[in-house]
Amino acid sequence: MKNYYKVPVNQPSFLGNEKKYLMRCLNEGFVSSAGPMVKKFESEFAKKVNRKFAISVSNGTAALQLAYESLNLKKNDEVILPSFTIISCILPVIRSGAKPILVDSESRTWNIDVDKIERKITSKTKLLIVPHIYGLPAEMNSILKIAKKYKLKVLEDAAEVLGLTYKKKMCGSFGDVSTFSFYANKHITTGEGGMIVTNDKKIAEKCKSLRNICFNNERRFLHYDLGWNYRFTNLQSALGLAQLEQLNKFVIKKRKIGEIYNKNLSKIKFFDTQLKKIKYAKNIYWVYGLLLKKNSPINLKSLMEKLKKSGVETRNFFWPLHQQPILRKMGLFKNTKLPVSEYLARNGLYLPSGLSLTLNQQKFVIKQIKKIFSKYL
Ligand SMILES: *Cc1c(COP(=O)(O)O)cnc(C)c1O
Repeated sequence: MKNYYKVPVNQPSFLGNEKKYLMRCLNEGFVSSAGPMVKKFESEFAKKVNRKFAISVSNGTAALQLAYESLNLKKNDEVILPSFTIISCILPVIRSGAKPILVDSESRTWNIDVDKIERKITSKTKLLIVPHIYGLPAEMNSILKIAKKYKLKVLEDAAEVLGLTYKKKMCGSFGDVSTFSFYANKHITTGEGGMIVTNDKKIAEKCKSLRNICFNNERRFLHYDLGWNYRFTNLQSALGLAQLEQLNKFVIKKRKIGEIYNKNLSKIKFFDTQLKKIKYAKNIYWVYGLLLKKNSPINLKSLMEKLKKSGVETRNFFWPLHQQPILRKMGLFKNTKLPVSEYLARNGLYLPSGLSLTLNQQKFVIKQIKKIFSKYL
């Protein structure tokens, strides 16, 4: 398959047992969620992130939806989350009739600014939704302390950080319930796919039931709740098992990509590159982000266009939730101003950083960026 770009922003890597396990599905005739690899993948995954239960679902957005449902929030409860994240984090909050309260992000790690959480807590606050953004973990120490102090639940979105540790503990092991995505650009991919993990049996049972349209155990077609079909298939599990076997290698590769970019680009003074580490964690570089500084002679749009012309695909950072057209149309976040999130959205891009990126491709990207900025240095 030919890609339009000389260096695409992401290409996954399938050099392990993917084909072998997929062929096994076909040979044995198990392609749906009823196949034996689904449970195997779930149990391997649970082990990997140190959790008792893992519930596979059709994608990371579905995982967030069910994880949220499992926490039984009520209408008018308040939920705190960062504005700088994917819309998937806020969808279940809105749909449930709860009230989303947005917090700005920290300007160097791009994660939720933990110093700004407490002032947003009221007697109605029930939940913190905490995504880890682009390769560094949110400050879980502070977040868990706040959660404990105010008796809040924590939903941790670890979609971008499978394999990352914070204080030597796996990301995805911090929330009352935590979620992952296996979209093609994530650390492991099953094409589309997601996972919910928890140590709480009740949460696990509820997620399992909701994922399978709440079929009843005694009488299958009797329903006592409204669910979804978010089942994960044997085919996806085949890919997942093969990919999970390579996770350590993938993490090493991502860090290598990040370090090469850091080494070659950090001298250019017109943008911030990613921090190599914070106090309790080393960057896993899910994607490699650049954030243009105020003194940059080139704006985001023209930088992306120039790179595109030379064959390098890039992608914008997230757009902040408080400025999402659909949410504004619903009357939300009218006077909300979150300057860091707004700045990140307008000045950040990420470079090709997929697992199939070659050293030559990376050198090419670096050369183009140096060329673009060279006349200003
Ligand atoms: C990718 C991602 C998701 C959504 O996952 P999908 O599988 O694409 O639905 C959710 N949260 C974060 C932080 C993500 O990066």
